[in-house]
Amino acid sequence: AQHYLKRIEAASALNAFIQVDPELTLAQAKAADERVARGESGPLLGLPIAHKDVFVTRGWRSTAGSKMLEGYVSPFDATVVERFMRAGMVTLGKTNMDEFAMGSSNENSAYGSVKNPWDTAAVPGGSSGGSAAAVAARLAPAATATDTGGSIRQPASFSGVTGIKPTYGRVSRYGMIAFASSLDQGGPMAQTAADCAALLNAMTGFDERDSTSLKRDDEDYTRFLGQTWSTGGAADKPLAGLRIGLPKEYFGDGLAGDVRAAVDAALKQYEALGATLVPVSLPKTELSIPVYYVIAPAEASSNLSRFDGVRYGHRAAEYRDLLDMYKKSRAEGFGPEVKRRILVGTYVLSHGYYDAYYLQAQKIRRIIAQDFEEAFKTCDVIMGPVAPTVAWDIGAKGDDPVQMYLADVYTLSISLAGLPGMSVPCGFGAGANAKRPVGLQIVGNYFNEARMLQIADAFQ
Ligand code: GLN
Repeated sequence: AQHYLKRIEAASALNAFIQVDPELTLAQAKAADERVARGESGPLLGLPIAHKDVFVTRGWRSTAGSKMLEGYVSPFDATVVERFMRAGMVTLGKTNMDEFAMGSSNENSAYGSVKNPWDTAAVPGGSSGGSAAAVAARLAPAATATDTGGSIRQPASFSGVTGIKPTYGRVSRYGMIAFASSLDQGGPMAQTAADCAALLNAMTGFDERDSTSLKRDDEDYTRFLGQTWSTGGAADKPLAGLRIGLPKEYFGDGLAGDVRAAVDAALKQYEALGATLVPVSLPKTELSIPVYYVIAPAEASSNLSRFDGVRYGHRAAEYRDLLDMYKKSRAEGFGPEVKRRILVGTYVLSHGYYDAYYLQAQKIRRIIAQDFEEAFKTCDVIMGPVAPTVAWDIGAKGDDPVQMYLADVYTLSISLAGLPGMSVPCGFGAGANAKRPVGLQIVGNYFNEARMLQIADAFQ
């Protein structure tokens, strides 16, 4: 913990953390030492971890990157935080993020942009940009993150770390400040798939405090690491028999040449490991953008109604009456992107527009899930890019939200379908982008995380 605290301080210019508190961290480290002294052991005991500021933490501030929650201290720990503490992990601090996890670059944080450690002119990705930058710069060996439409996979890709979003319902949302509840899913970020597997072992599990938490038997996500794919026994290559589906919609015109080259090189390596590549199609890929940007804001507008200046968060200093207090508190507390989402969400849910937008989006969401069902009939796993380009310059898309939304095209449909997805570093861009990482996206069928981690680990 001391080692990482020193590194965090030396790298404060990255702005990866919203809060660090060495006293709190070292107290936790001491408690872990005492557990070791008592003879306890465990794969995560005493290891430090950074938490995305969307997870509430007792004793630490929890802001979700918003001015609305500036200074807020939760009276309880999120289930995820509680589980890692039970495993003996030591909290290093709270990482920076886009406000309420809305964004793809971390530029929507009320606490300033985060710099990409590989190239400080670039964004780290978002919304879990602080977690990604912290792991990439070795300010933390692991970090928690959340993914609603790509916020684990895309910053992992932009920052050259490994991150996995499990099947929806695997990780408890209790104490995870809500953005879009039917999509929000927590997951780990670390250097390797093997590390992510160890973290998932502690992170997942049924939680009666989350109504969408899934009742499943505990499983060991490390169980396939290092094994050959086919259990037939004859396989001399580690992944012989594995069928990798390549959706043609993920390799079209919108994909930058340098990202494509890095992904193609990774696919070659998979062939060398014994896998076969099969073409598949996900015809509704492009529709995932309008569908997601109707559903997510709709849910957000409802979730964020609790921030009214009474029960939580910022309250305006001066107001005439109750309504004026709501208006001023929300006008001051929320940033521009959050306001945009609340407006869109309220609009698509309103009488007269509900059928035309929200209901249509829900129907197409179902069809998007069916696209994947179809694709998984002919392949075991799907691969492609995480994002159409490498990380862009800080400020480059700042005044054009739609440009930012379009960059989510390869991650949104996986979230809408509730499928597990991960990002694995697979190279760098070219020319001026030569220092900017590229991630390979691996998408598995429901509950196939252990297999995805095996496939990622074989590549690493
Ligand atoms: N970029 C997407 C958005 O802005 C996804 C964010 C996320 O997954 N939290 O909504």
